[in-house]
Amino acid sequence: MLLQDKVAVISGAASPRGIGMATARLFASQGASVVILDLDETAAREAAGQLPAGNHLGLACNVASRRDCQQAAATTLAHYGHIDALINNAGITQPVRTLDIDPESWDRILDVNLRGVLYLSQAFLPSMRERKAGSIACMSSVSAQRGGGIFGGPHYSAAKAGVLGLAKAMAREFGPDNIRVNCVTPGLIQTDITGGKLTDELRQDIIKGIPLNRLGNAEDVANAYLFLASDLSAYITGAVIDVNGGMLIH
Ligand code: NAD
Repeated sequence: MLLQDKVAVISGAASPRGIGMATARLFASQGASVVILDLDETAAREAAGQLPAGNHLGLACNVASRRDCQQAAATTLAHYGHIDALINNAGITQPVRTLDIDPESWDRILDVNLRGVLYLSQAFLPSMRERKAGSIACMSSVSAQRGGGIFGGPHYSAAKAGVLGLAKAMAREFGPDNIRVNCVTPGLIQTDITGGKLTDELRQDIIKGIPLNRLGNAEDVANAYLFLASDLSAYITGAVIDVNGGMLIH
């Protein structure tokens, strides 16, 4: 059991086919108490109720709201006393081109994908620093590394590239406190984030460019998060782990 008696908080984890929920299931099966954060309280609670037995919580938290993040941290810390791992997983995307990005779309995509990583990290970092222990894993994307071209628009690429910079800077700042901060950069993973807008033709085109010859599934990314949350990665910080089947080899 890689996470026996550990407490892990995962944002964006109530979506049944999503990466966050797959991560919550895996972490719980590895002995962790899991806090599921998502927009809808009922959905978060129900998702927590479906996890393998343990002391799990489901809380409402819009990661783009500083107040929500502070509140979620206060509730979590009141319940468990501390956390060991934070998974900044929540995200949204939008398939538009540069000239079609309006100010509202820019704000929405940047707020959830990038600002949310800052706010939720800020909410939990002080308690991690007090214990001189913690692991934070942040969701970026292959879109950040190769300039999109898969599904999300340029604002999504920009937000996910911002996550890489933010995570590396936090890794540098909090390393002396024994807090590790790393990122994952998945390729195309079969979840509901594409909202039914991924055509079969586009899917086949994408698979042609993947050496492992398949799209990823949520468990592929959950396994990388598990590695980063556990002590197996005790000497790894500021790193970026590709989970893309070889779609981008660099
Ligand atoms: P998903 O839509 O299944 O899950 C995203 C979850 O985030 C949902 O449960 C949603 O309710 C939640 N969420 C959205 N806005 C939120 C907010 N403001 N506050 C809190 N929660 C919020 O999609 P997924 O594919 O599992 O995505 C998880 C993460 O992986 C996202 O950050 C996404 O950008 C990233 N990602 C996905 C892929 C892919 O191909 N699916 C590839 C690379 C990166």
